[in-house]
Amino acid sequence: MRIGIVGLGLIGGSLGKDWVAAGHQVWGVSRNLLSCQQAGLVGAVHGASTDLESLAAHQVEVVVICTPIEAIVPTLRQLAGCLSPQVLVTDVGSVKAEIVAAAESIWPRFVGGHPMGGTEASGIGAAQAGLFDQRPYVLTPLPNGDPEWVGCLGNLARELGADPVVCDPLTHDQAVAWISHLPVMISASLIRSCGVAAEEEVLTLAQRLASSGFRDTSRVGGGNPELGTAMAQFNKSALLNALATYQQQLQDLIGLIQQEDWGALHQLLTLAQQQRPSFVSMPGPPMAPIHNSPAPADHSRPLA
Ligand code: NAP
Repeated sequence: MRIGIVGLGLIGGSLGKDWVAAGHQVWGVSRNLLSCQQAGLVGAVHGASTDLESLAAHQVEVVVICTPIEAIVPTLRQLAGCLSPQVLVTDVGSVKAEIVAAAESIWPRFVGGHPMGGTEASGIGAAQAGLFDQRPYVLTPLPNGDPEWVGCLGNLARELGADPVVCDPLTHDQAVAWISHLPVMISASLIRSCGVAAEEEVLTLAQRLASSGFRDTSRVGGGNPELGTAMAQFNKSALLNALATYQQQLQDLIGLIQQEDWGALHQLLTLAQQQRPSFVSMPGPPMAPIHNSPAPADHSRPLA
Protein backbone atom coordinates (compact mmCIF):
# COMPACT_ATOMS: atom_id res chain seq x y z
CA MET A 1 0.00 0.00 0.00
CA ARG A 2 1.17 3.59 -0.63
CA ILE A 3 0.98 5.55 2.64
CA GLY A 4 1.56 9.27 3.23
CA ILE A 5 2.57 10.53 6.69
CA VAL A 6 2.25 14.25 7.47
CA GLY A 7 4.23 15.42 10.53
CA LEU A 8 7.45 13.45 10.93
CA GLY A 9 7.88 13.44 14.71
CA LEU A 10 7.73 10.77 17.42
CA ILE A 11 4.43 9.24 16.30
CA GLY A 12 4.70 9.82 12.52
CA GLY A 13 8.28 8.51 12.47
CA SER A 14 7.44 5.47 14.60
CA LEU A 15 4.48 4.51 12.39
CA GLY A 16 6.65 5.00 9.30
CA LYS A 17 9.41 2.72 10.59
CA ASP A 18 7.00 -0.18 11.17
CA TRP A 19 5.11 0.28 7.90
CA VAL A 20 8.33 0.52 5.88
CA ALA A 21 9.47 -2.70 7.60
CA ALA A 22 6.09 -4.30 6.75
CA GLY A 23 6.73 -3.65 3.04
CA HIS A 24 4.55 -0.58 2.41
CA GLN A 25 5.65 2.41 0.34
CA VAL A 26 5.80 5.32 2.81
CA TRP A 27 6.08 8.99 1.78
CA GLY A 28 6.47 11.74 4.35
CA VAL A 29 5.74 15.46 4.59
CA SER A 30 6.99 17.72 7.37
CA ARG A 31 7.53 21.46 7.78
CA ASN A 32 11.22 21.17 8.48
CA LEU A 33 13.56 19.88 5.77
CA LEU A 34 15.85 18.41 8.45
CA SER A 35 12.97 16.24 9.79
CA CYS A 36 12.41 15.00 6.22
CA GLN A 37 16.07 14.13 5.74
CA GLN A 38 16.36 12.45 9.15
CA ALA A 39 13.17 10.44 8.54
CA GLY A 40 14.79 9.01 5.42
CA LEU A 41 18.03 8.26 7.26
CA VAL A 42 16.28 6.35 10.09
CA GLY A 43 14.14 4.32 7.67
CA ALA A 44 10.79 5.91 8.55
CA VAL A 45 10.01 6.89 4.93
CA HIS A 46 11.11 6.06 1.41
CA GLY A 47 11.21 9.78 0.71
CA ALA A 48 9.95 13.03 2.26
CA SER A 49 9.34 16.63 1.32
CA THR A 50 8.02 19.87 2.80
CA ASP A 51 5.36 20.03 0.08
CA LEU A 52 1.95 18.43 0.77
CA GLU A 53 1.31 18.14 -2.97
CA SER A 54 4.14 15.59 -3.21
CA LEU A 55 1.74 13.02 -1.70
CA ALA A 56 -0.55 13.27 -4.73
CA ALA A 57 2.46 12.80 -7.01
CA HIS A 58 3.27 9.54 -5.17
CA GLN A 59 -0.37 8.44 -5.57
CA VAL A 60 -0.78 7.61 -1.90
CA GLU A 61 -3.90 5.63 -0.96
CA VAL A 62 -3.91 6.45 2.76
CA VAL A 63 -2.70 9.63 4.51
CA VAL A 64 -2.00 9.69 8.26
CA ILE A 65 -1.88 13.18 9.81
CA CYS A 66 0.64 13.08 12.68
CA THR A 67 1.03 16.80 13.43
CA PRO A 68 0.34 18.37 16.85
CA ILE A 69 -3.41 18.36 17.66
CA GLU A 70 -4.06 22.00 16.79
CA ALA A 71 -2.56 21.56 13.30
CA ILE A 72 -4.61 18.45 12.36
CA VAL A 73 -7.75 20.16 11.00
CA PRO A 74 -5.80 22.93 9.18
CA THR A 75 -3.62 20.20 7.62
CA LEU A 76 -6.72 18.27 6.54
CA ARG A 77 -8.06 21.45 4.88
CA GLN A 78 -4.79 21.87 2.98
CA LEU A 79 -4.78 18.19 1.97
CA ALA A 80 -8.35 18.52 0.68
CA GLY A 81 -7.02 20.93 -1.92
CA CYS A 82 -4.49 18.50 -3.36
CA LEU A 83 -5.54 14.85 -2.80
CA SER A 84 -7.60 12.70 -5.12
CA PRO A 85 -11.07 12.02 -3.57
CA GLN A 86 -10.37 8.26 -3.28
CA VAL A 87 -7.66 8.78 -0.67
CA LEU A 88 -8.52 7.61 2.85
CA VAL A 89 -7.34 10.08 5.51
CA THR A 90 -6.83 9.42 9.21
CA ASP A 91 -5.05 11.18 12.07
CA VAL A 92 -3.33 10.21 15.33
CA GLY A 93 -4.51 13.05 17.59
CA SER A 94 -4.89 12.27 21.29
CA VAL A 95 -8.33 13.95 21.26
CA LYS A 96 -11.02 12.96 18.77
CA ALA A 97 -14.45 14.67 19.06
CA GLU A 98 -13.52 18.11 17.70
CA ILE A 99 -11.31 16.70 14.93
CA VAL A 100 -13.82 14.10 13.72
CA ALA A 101 -16.68 16.66 13.76
CA ALA A 102 -14.63 19.08 11.63
CA ALA A 103 -13.39 16.33 9.29
CA GLU A 104 -16.91 15.28 8.33
CA SER A 105 -17.45 18.41 6.23
CA ILE A 106 -13.87 18.66 4.92
CA TRP A 107 -13.05 15.09 3.84
CA PRO A 108 -15.87 12.49 4.00
CA ARG A 109 -13.36 9.65 3.50
CA PHE A 110 -11.98 10.15 7.03
CA VAL A 111 -11.61 7.87 10.06
CA GLY A 112 -10.25 9.33 13.32
CA GLY A 113 -7.35 7.44 14.89
CA HIS A 114 -5.33 7.34 18.10
CA PRO A 115 -2.51 4.86 18.59
CA MET A 116 -2.18 4.48 22.36
CA GLY A 117 1.57 4.50 22.76
CA GLY A 118 4.27 7.10 23.22
CA THR A 119 7.28 8.25 25.16
CA GLU A 120 8.12 11.51 26.92
CA ALA A 121 10.34 12.51 23.96
CA SER A 122 9.35 14.28 20.75
CA GLY A 123 10.63 14.83 17.21
CA ILE A 124 11.84 12.42 14.54
CA GLY A 125 14.96 11.59 16.60
CA ALA A 126 12.69 9.94 19.18
CA ALA A 127 10.89 7.70 16.65
CA GLN A 128 11.18 4.02 17.41
CA ALA A 129 10.12 0.76 15.80
CA GLY A 130 7.61 -1.33 17.74
CA LEU A 131 6.23 1.64 19.73
CA PHE A 132 2.63 0.42 19.32
CA ASP A 133 3.26 -3.30 19.73
CA GLN A 134 0.53 -4.79 21.97
CA ARG A 135 -1.06 -1.36 22.44
CA PRO A 136 -4.66 -0.40 21.61
CA TYR A 137 -5.13 1.58 18.36
CA VAL A 138 -8.38 3.54 18.54
CA LEU A 139 -10.42 4.12 15.37
CA THR A 140 -13.39 6.53 15.42
CA PRO A 141 -15.31 6.31 12.12
CA LEU A 142 -17.71 8.96 10.81
CA PRO A 143 -21.38 7.96 11.24
CA ASN A 144 -21.83 7.41 7.49
CA GLY A 145 -18.35 6.03 6.82
CA ASP A 146 -17.73 2.86 4.83
CA PRO A 147 -16.84 -0.08 7.16
CA GLU A 148 -14.15 -1.02 4.63
CA TRP A 149 -12.16 2.10 5.67
CA VAL A 150 -12.07 0.90 9.28
CA GLY A 151 -11.11 -2.56 8.04
CA CYS A 152 -8.20 -1.13 6.05
CA LEU A 153 -6.88 0.97 8.95
CA GLY A 154 -7.46 -1.92 11.36
CA ASN A 155 -5.18 -4.06 9.22
CA LEU A 156 -2.50 -1.35 9.14
CA ALA A 157 -2.76 -1.14 12.95
CA ARG A 158 -2.34 -4.90 13.27
CA GLU A 159 0.85 -4.67 11.22
CA LEU A 160 2.22 -2.50 14.04
CA GLY A 161 1.37 -5.32 16.45
CA ALA A 162 -1.43 -3.09 17.79
CA ASP A 163 -4.98 -4.03 18.74
CA PRO A 164 -7.63 -1.98 16.87
CA VAL A 165 -10.46 -0.65 19.08
CA VAL A 166 -13.47 1.00 17.41
CA CYS A 167 -15.48 3.54 19.41
CA ASP A 168 -17.22 6.89 19.05
CA PRO A 169 -15.11 10.05 19.41
CA LEU A 170 -16.86 11.43 22.50
CA THR A 171 -16.57 8.19 24.49
CA HIS A 172 -12.90 8.04 23.46
CA ASP A 173 -12.29 11.56 24.79
CA GLN A 174 -14.02 10.79 28.09
CA ALA A 175 -12.05 7.55 28.53
CA VAL A 176 -8.63 9.08 27.72
CA ALA A 177 -9.38 11.97 30.10
CA TRP A 178 -9.19 9.36 32.92
CA ILE A 179 -6.30 7.18 31.82
CA SER A 180 -4.11 9.57 29.83
CA HIS A 181 -4.86 13.26 30.33
CA LEU A 182 -5.53 13.12 34.12
CA PRO A 183 -2.27 11.17 34.72
CA VAL A 184 -0.31 13.84 32.79
CA MET A 185 -1.72 16.59 35.03
CA ILE A 186 -1.26 14.60 38.26
CA SER A 187 2.27 13.60 37.31
CA ALA A 188 3.21 17.21 36.44
CA SER A 189 1.75 18.39 39.78
CA LEU A 190 3.77 15.73 41.58
CA ILE A 191 7.01 16.95 40.02
CA ARG A 192 6.09 20.58 40.78
CA SER A 193 5.15 19.73 44.40
CA CYS A 194 8.50 18.03 45.02
CA GLY A 195 10.31 20.88 43.31
CA VAL A 196 8.75 23.71 45.27
CA ALA A 197 7.85 22.20 48.64
CA ALA A 198 11.12 20.91 50.07
CA GLU A 199 13.98 22.84 51.72
CA GLU A 200 17.19 23.05 49.69
CA GLU A 201 19.05 20.30 51.61
CA VAL A 202 16.03 17.95 51.58
CA LEU A 203 15.40 18.65 47.89
CA THR A 204 19.01 17.83 46.98
CA LEU A 205 18.83 14.53 48.86
CA ALA A 206 15.37 13.71 47.39
CA GLN A 207 16.73 14.25 43.87
CA ARG A 208 19.61 11.90 44.66
CA LEU A 209 17.34 9.22 46.16
CA ALA A 210 14.62 9.33 43.49
CA SER A 211 14.49 5.89 41.94
CA SER A 212 12.08 3.56 40.11
CA GLY A 213 8.90 4.71 41.91
CA PHE A 214 9.49 8.37 41.13
CA ARG A 215 10.62 7.50 37.60
CA ASP A 216 7.31 5.67 36.96
CA THR A 217 5.04 8.27 38.52
CA SER A 218 6.77 11.31 36.99
CA ARG A 219 7.26 9.98 33.42
CA VAL A 220 4.13 11.35 31.77
CA GLY A 221 4.28 14.67 33.64
CA GLY A 222 7.81 15.25 32.39
CA GLY A 223 6.85 14.87 28.72
CA ASN A 224 6.11 17.22 25.81
CA PRO A 225 4.46 20.41 27.29
CA GLU A 226 2.79 21.31 23.97
CA LEU A 227 0.99 17.94 23.94
CA GLY A 228 -0.14 18.27 27.58
CA THR A 229 -1.47 21.77 26.93
CA ALA A 230 -3.35 20.61 23.81
CA MET A 231 -4.90 17.71 25.78
CA ALA A 232 -6.35 20.23 28.26
CA GLN A 233 -7.39 22.69 25.55
CA PHE A 234 -9.16 20.14 23.33
CA ASN A 235 -10.60 17.90 26.08
CA LYS A 236 -11.36 20.57 28.66
CA SER A 237 -14.68 19.45 30.14
CA ALA A 238 -13.81 15.73 30.43
CA LEU A 239 -10.44 16.60 31.98
CA LEU A 240 -11.97 19.07 34.46
CA ASN A 241 -14.49 16.40 35.47
CA ALA A 242 -11.67 13.87 36.07
CA LEU A 243 -9.60 16.45 37.97
CA ALA A 244 -12.57 17.26 40.24
CA THR A 245 -12.98 13.58 41.12
CA TYR A 246 -9.25 13.31 41.77
CA GLN A 247 -9.35 16.43 43.96
CA GLN A 248 -12.09 14.79 46.05
CA GLN A 249 -9.99 11.60 46.35
CA LEU A 250 -7.04 13.67 47.59
CA GLN A 251 -9.29 15.47 50.05
CA ASP A 252 -10.55 12.12 51.39
CA LEU A 253 -6.95 10.87 51.77
CA ILE A 254 -5.93 14.02 53.63
CA GLY A 255 -8.93 13.59 55.97
CA LEU A 256 -8.07 9.95 56.74
CA ILE A 257 -4.44 10.81 57.53
CA GLN A 258 -5.40 13.83 59.68
CA GLN A 259 -7.84 11.65 61.64
CA GLU A 260 -5.23 8.87 61.83
CA ASP A 261 -7.86 6.48 60.51
CA TRP A 262 -5.29 3.88 59.45
CA GLY A 263 -7.92 1.15 59.01
CA ALA A 264 -9.85 3.20 56.44
CA LEU A 265 -6.63 4.24 54.72
CA HIS A 266 -5.56 0.58 54.49
CA GLN A 267 -8.96 -0.29 53.03
CA LEU A 268 -8.66 2.48 50.42
CA LEU A 269 -5.15 1.37 49.41
CA THR A 270 -6.34 -2.26 49.23
CA LEU A 271 -9.16 -1.25 46.89
CA ALA A 272 -6.67 0.64 44.70
CA GLN A 273 -4.39 -2.43 44.62
CA GLN A 274 -7.35 -4.60 43.56
CA GLN A 275 -8.55 -2.16 40.87
CA ARG A 276 -5.18 -1.60 39.17
CA PRO A 277 -5.10 -4.86 37.14
CA SER A 278 -8.38 -3.91 35.46
CA PHE A 279 -6.54 -0.95 33.88
CA VAL A 280 -3.02 -2.29 33.46
CA SER A 281 -2.59 -5.87 32.33
CA MET A 282 -0.57 -7.84 34.85
CA PRO A 283 1.34 -11.12 34.38
CA GLY A 284 -1.07 -14.04 34.57
CA PRO A 285 -4.00 -15.43 32.56
CA PRO A 286 -5.30 -13.12 29.79
CA MET A 287 -8.18 -10.80 30.73
CA ALA A 288 -11.55 -10.94 28.98
CA PRO A 289 -11.49 -8.88 25.74
CA ILE A 290 -13.02 -5.42 26.15
CA HIS A 291 -12.43 -4.15 22.65
CA ASN A 292 -14.46 -4.20 19.52
CA SER A 293 -12.01 -5.08 16.76
CA PRO A 294 -13.05 -4.58 13.16
CA ALA A 295 -13.10 -7.68 11.01
CA PRO A 296 -9.92 -8.11 8.95
CA ALA A 297 -10.34 -6.67 5.46
CA ASP A 298 -8.31 -7.19 2.32
CA HIS A 299 -6.18 -4.05 1.88
CA SER A 300 -3.98 -5.49 -0.80
CA ARG A 301 -6.25 -3.91 -3.39
CA PRO A 302 -6.64 -0.14 -3.78
CA LEU A 303 -9.42 1.54 -1.80
CA ALA A 304 -10.84 3.46 -4.73
P1 NAP B 1 6.14 15.51 17.78
O1 NAP B 1 7.17 14.51 18.11
O2 NAP B 1 6.35 16.93 18.19
O3 NAP B 1 5.87 15.42 16.22
C1 NAP B 1 5.01 16.26 15.50
C2 NAP B 1 5.73 16.70 14.24
O4 NAP B 1 4.83 17.46 13.45
C3 NAP B 1 6.91 17.61 14.57
O5 NAP B 1 8.09 16.86 14.62
C4 NAP B 1 6.90 18.64 13.46
O6 NAP B 1 7.86 18.33 12.48
C5 NAP B 1 5.53 18.52 12.81
N1 NAP B 1 4.78 19.77 13.04
C6 NAP B 1 4.81 20.56 14.12
N2 NAP B 1 3.93 21.58 13.99
C7 NAP B 1 3.38 21.44 12.79
C8 NAP B 1 2.42 22.18 12.06
N3 NAP B 1 1.86 23.28 12.56
N4 NAP B 1 2.08 21.74 10.85
C9 NAP B 1 2.65 20.65 10.33
N5 NAP B 1 3.57 19.89 10.98
C10 NAP B 1 3.92 20.28 12.18
O7 NAP B 1 4.74 15.12 18.42
P2 NAP B 1 4.13 13.64 18.58
O8 NAP B 1 4.32 13.21 19.98
O9 NAP B 1 4.59 12.79 17.46
O10 NAP B 1 2.58 13.98 18.43
C11 NAP B 1 1.99 14.09 17.17
C12 NAP B 1 0.53 13.72 17.28
O11 NAP B 1 0.44 12.43 17.86
C13 NAP B 1 -0.29 14.66 18.16
O12 NAP B 1 -1.51 14.96 17.52
C14 NAP B 1 -0.54 13.84 19.43
O13 NAP B 1 -1.79 14.14 20.03
C15 NAP B 1 -0.52 12.42 18.90
N6 NAP B 1 -0.10 11.40 19.85
C16 NAP B 1 0.98 11.60 20.65
C17 NAP B 1 1.36 10.61 21.52
C18 NAP B 1 2.55 10.78 22.43
O14 NAP B 1 2.65 10.11 23.46
N7 NAP B 1 3.48 11.65 22.11
C19 NAP B 1 0.67 9.39 21.56
C20 NAP B 1 -0.40 9.19 20.68
C21 NAP B 1 -0.78 10.21 19.82
P3 NAP B 1 8.76 19.51 11.86
O15 NAP B 1 9.89 19.68 12.81
O16 NAP B 1 9.19 18.99 10.56
O17 NAP B 1 7.91 20.74 11.78
